[in-house]
Amino acid sequence: MVMKSLAQIAAALEGYDPQALSVPQVQAFLKQLAPLRHDGPVETLPVMAAGERILARDVVSPVDVPPHDNSAMDGFAFAGSDLSATEPTVLQCVGHALAGAAWAGPPPQTGQCLRITTGAIMPAGLDTVVAHEMVQVQGDRITVPLGRVHTGDNRRLRGEDIAQGQAALRQGQRLTPAAWGLLASLGLPEVAVRQRLRVAYFSTGDEILSLGQVPREGAVYDSNRYTVCGLLQRMGCEWIDLGVVPDDPHRLRAAFEEAAQRADAIITSGGVSVGEADHTKALMRELGDVDFWRIAMRPGRPMAVGRMGQTLMFGLPGNPVAVMVTFLAFVRPALWRMMGCTDAPPLLVRAQSQQAMRKKAGRTEYQRGVVSRSDNGTLQVSTTGNQGSGVLSSMVQGNALIVLHHDQGHVAEGDPVDVMLFDGAI
Ligand code: AMP
Ligand code: MG
Repeated sequence: MVMKSLAQIAAALEGYDPQALSVPQVQAFLKQLAPLRHDGPVETLPVMAAGERILARDVVSPVDVPPHDNSAMDGFAFAGSDLSATEPTVLQCVGHALAGAAWAGPPPQTGQCLRITTGAIMPAGLDTVVAHEMVQVQGDRITVPLGRVHTGDNRRLRGEDIAQGQAALRQGQRLTPAAWGLLASLGLPEVAVRQRLRVAYFSTGDEILSLGQVPREGAVYDSNRYTVCGLLQRMGCEWIDLGVVPDDPHRLRAAFEEAAQRADAIITSGGVSVGEADHTKALMRELGDVDFWRIAMRPGRPMAVGRMGQTLMFGLPGNPVAVMVTFLAFVRPALWRMMGCTDAPPLLVRAQSQQAMRKKAGRTEYQRGVVSRSDNGTLQVSTTGNQGSGVLSSMVQGNALIVLHHDQGHVAEGDPVDVMLFDGAI
């Protein structure tokens, strides 16, 4: 794959100004820097080990699913042509067809039926099932009420889920629980999936403590390492934990070099703000092709992006909410593309704002929101109190980000706003 340099991408992007980029511009830039990758490394795994992986190839079904016409109900199977159009239909029951084996008795004649269990193969000549609870049974006679059952009812057709030779799953799809089960239903023992993306992470800052360290004045415990680790785990990435790296040029260099060698992508947090008097930015610049951006967004204004060798690098801001928001807005989609994942991006839905919100046009704001159902069944959203970029509890209380777009101004109570439900991503 030909990789474009940052300068090449920037030159092609309309109005590129690293000091004043809009969120859509950043997203457009990142699509160039980290395009959808179809040629990533592949491995073949037993199906049981492949959950949450990305399919490397289309999966063509070798079989019909289900493999034979079968009953969708416990009831009685008969020929639909026996149904009377004018009165209840009386049938004689001549046997019991069970799931797991074909009916081995003589084929039922006109006016006869078989008891049948859910999943049992439809006996030859029979095409209709009536549920137990719908018929009257007297000895070996059953009476099917008039007009309640039609030919073909309660019969599942061979191949109705997936036909033999059909692409049941597409390359680029993620093996979510449903896709995983569907794959297993084809009976294939192994599957070709993309190798897990390796992502290295370290926190930077002299004031950042690791768990177990004694608290000291001016220091805070490292939370970014955990939020980023969790976000990466939910994506099925391999996580390379490089801990907290203090503002020491030797330690920083060693961390960047190790990350670039071992990982497909590096994520750091902290040390990229404008006034930052530290070595992080200097080293990023020295070791890679890196741009430092100021993005018209809140939270999350400063961010560094680039490459070290083949490895993509994201220098996220330090504030805990800014880390999560920039991850969701920029890093996550870029990593999905690197993983070759073609699943649809998270859905933005509209909800009615339960309060007025001040919003400056000319930047994108991500407020933490609680989306709920109103009394009339529509979606409504309210913000979680303090929206400070260090208030991580807002991400815990919220179940969505309220996305106030670049050109949008103040929001009045009752106005519709876009929300992105966390929906398993967080
Ligand atoms: P910075 O971007 O380095 O200026 O950091 C901005 C704010 O985020 C500061 O208050 C930092 O203490 C805080 N911060 C930076 N890194 C972390 C971290 N790993 N965990 C928690 N807070 C952090
Ligand atoms: Mg700092």
